[in-house]
Amino acid sequence: MDTASRLDTVLVKTASRCNFDCSYCYVYHGPDSAWRIQPKRMRREVVAAIRARLVEQAGCQEAGFAIVLHGGEPLLLGYRRLAELLRGLRAELPSGRYPISVQTNGALLSEELLDLFAETRTSVSVSIDGPRKANDLARLDHRGRSTYAATMRGIRLLASHKESESVFAGTLSVIQPTVAPDRVYGFLKGLGAPSMDFLLQDGNHDRLPPEKNSFRSTKYGEWLIELFDLYLDDPSPVPIRIFDDMIKLCLGGVNQKEGRGKVRHGILIIETDGEIRKNDTLRASFEGADRFTKRWNIVDSSLLTVLSSQEYISYTGMQLPSSVQCQGCELLPVCGGGMPLYRWSADRGYDNPSVYCHDHAILIRHALERLRDSGLNDSLILPASSIHVS
Ligand code: SF4
Repeated sequence: MDTASRLDTVLVKTASRCNFDCSYCYVYHGPDSAWRIQPKRMRREVVAAIRARLVEQAGCQEAGFAIVLHGGEPLLLGYRRLAELLRGLRAELPSGRYPISVQTNGALLSEELLDLFAETRTSVSVSIDGPRKANDLARLDHRGRSTYAATMRGIRLLASHKESESVFAGTLSVIQPTVAPDRVYGFLKGLGAPSMDFLLQDGNHDRLPPEKNSFRSTKYGEWLIELFDLYLDDPSPVPIRIFDDMIKLCLGGVNQKEGRGKVRHGILIIETDGEIRKNDTLRASFEGADRFTKRWNIVDSSLLTVLSSQEYISYTGMQLPSSVQCQGCELLPVCGGGMPLYRWSADRGYDNPSVYCHDHAILIRHALERLRDSGLNDSLILPASSIHVS
């Protein structure tokens, strides 16, 4: 099978609502309103179809794929149906080739659920933006109250579970550039998570990300440089995926996730009602940006039908930037033009560099300098000229 039509990651939206109301969430506060007409929880026949279709797909491609339970808040599906889904999948799909993970805000974690995750070799990543000050900037509940304590309770439960080592995958934080990176890094390290990852805030050329006052601003790049230095200078660092991916790319390796590098990733979403969609981060651009024209549903369509379609190939092709600036940019092999949602503008579509272009550029140049200074000059894939700050 051509890698362009291979499944790498499937995100399963087990619940379309969330018990939190984070102000930056592209699902509920972006231009798309699809969640309003979705069933609140995935029905039993959709759960059964997912199991059957994923097993079918596993028989159609050599490479394994990752399964991520996502929402809304995925734990809102409830123990019984989650158990049906996870036990059903794990009975047919071995963990080595088919990692299953859950991305949760942590508030609904319980011993019973953690035992289920341990039994089905499902790992858990918890969303938290840092100490209370950082977390309270956006991660509030539907009545505007802090969710910090609820998430911390879940993390403590997770960290103290008897099989925490295999179940606790790490933390995922949206960057809050007004909170100093050393406070965030020190705090997250103290949680005992085995890894961290960071996301840029949503935004595009028509709607700049918070705290970024122009396309040329480098607020996020400066924040990331400070974090990168803390990471590199830490004698006992906790792995940070976003940086490990970047370092790997600088040294000629391959990116693990979309949004960097030049390798395309096959990502599909299964909505709560079973509809098969493109990566839902595209919703941050405009209403319906993540829909396929044919509106396939997992109940009556195989994933192979979608993966073999011309529309799927065009969609994965979007990961490679089309803009003249990116095409001519010496940093493209590492930067990759950023995720498509960050390239959007109403007048040019996705034919722009990332709105974070200048942030990416100063970060990558800094990383190259640090790697060169560590004696890795001969292994860097970018020419020395890339290292000079323009
Ligand atoms: S640094 Fe800017 S121009 Fe270069 S690839 Fe990245 S987004 Fe495109």
